[in-house]
Amino acid sequence: MADDWNMPAGELMKGKRGIVMGVANQNSIAWGISKQLAAQGAEIAFTYQGETLERRVRPLVESIGMDTMIPADVTDDASMDAAFAAIKEKWGKIDFLVHSIAFAGKDELMGSMVANTSREGFRRAMDISVYSFIDSARRASEIMPDGGAIICMTYLGAERVVPSYNVMGVAKAALEAATRYAARDLGTQGIRVNAISAGAMRTLSLAGIRGGKSLMGTGRDWSLLKEDTKMEGVAGAALYLLSDIGQSIAGEVIHVDAGFHVVGVPDMPEE
Ligand code: NAD
Repeated sequence: MADDWNMPAGELMKGKRGIVMGVANQNSIAWGISKQLAAQGAEIAFTYQGETLERRVRPLVESIGMDTMIPADVTDDASMDAAFAAIKEKWGKIDFLVHSIAFAGKDELMGSMVANTSREGFRRAMDISVYSFIDSARRASEIMPDGGAIICMTYLGAERVVPSYNVMGVAKAALEAATRYAARDLGTQGIRVNAISAGAMRTLSLAGIRGGKSLMGTGRDWSLLKEDTKMEGVAGAALYLLSDIGQSIAGEVIHVDAGFHVVGVPDMPEE
């Protein structure tokens, strides 16, 4: 992602405060979303996974004039308790949450899903990629007395079979179901919960998938627009869902993938 991309600036998020979970570096989807939200006036608290990441993420956070960074390992209840307590103490309440976190072991992201999914690998993928969303949504909703909006990130591998995606596809299917259930549970509190299904993008997570580069190539070549999924598009969808222009949208999975998800058969030579 070029760091000089032009995000529409404005005031759609003015007066709104929220949490972004999942910035690891400048290529992270969470970072693209953060820049767009900041350009529209949002105030953001960033959670990050550990000390090594802090050194990488801090300069990014400071580059957009923010300074709230809180460690949060989503597999550790004490760490999550402390992170959300710190945000509550700082702001009292929030308006939005971005969950952009997933993990599966490298050995699971190749070959046969049936052969390569261990009980522990399944548990870990589901814990980090799905339970963490449910847990974060609950914690965030407790500090959203005036309503708000929550999003998570998913991929087409939830709906269709994608080589190497394996247990992560299973986890993303669960994440999309969790999005709908959370949208029901929190809807009456005025909290809208939605998911963005992004096309393959060059990030650390993609690098962990055997053949990740080919996933990007196929995503581009088969897509209706014949182009890579752009970070600007994903960030724009996030802005839409998290700001008031996305009102009335709940329990939705919006595809931002240059139209790749609707293709049944790729273009063929004419006979
Ligand atoms: P990324 O590697 O930049 O982000 C993944 C984040 O998950 C990292 O910040 C990492 O620190 C965090 N994480 C992992 N385990 C954690 C833990 N135990 N505690 C706290 N944080 C933890 O990659 P990304 O591609 O930006 O991924 C963000 C989201 O987007 C993921 O849900 C991913 O599945 C999804 N997604 C990615 C693509 C793609 O092609 N890159 C496409 C669709 C959806």
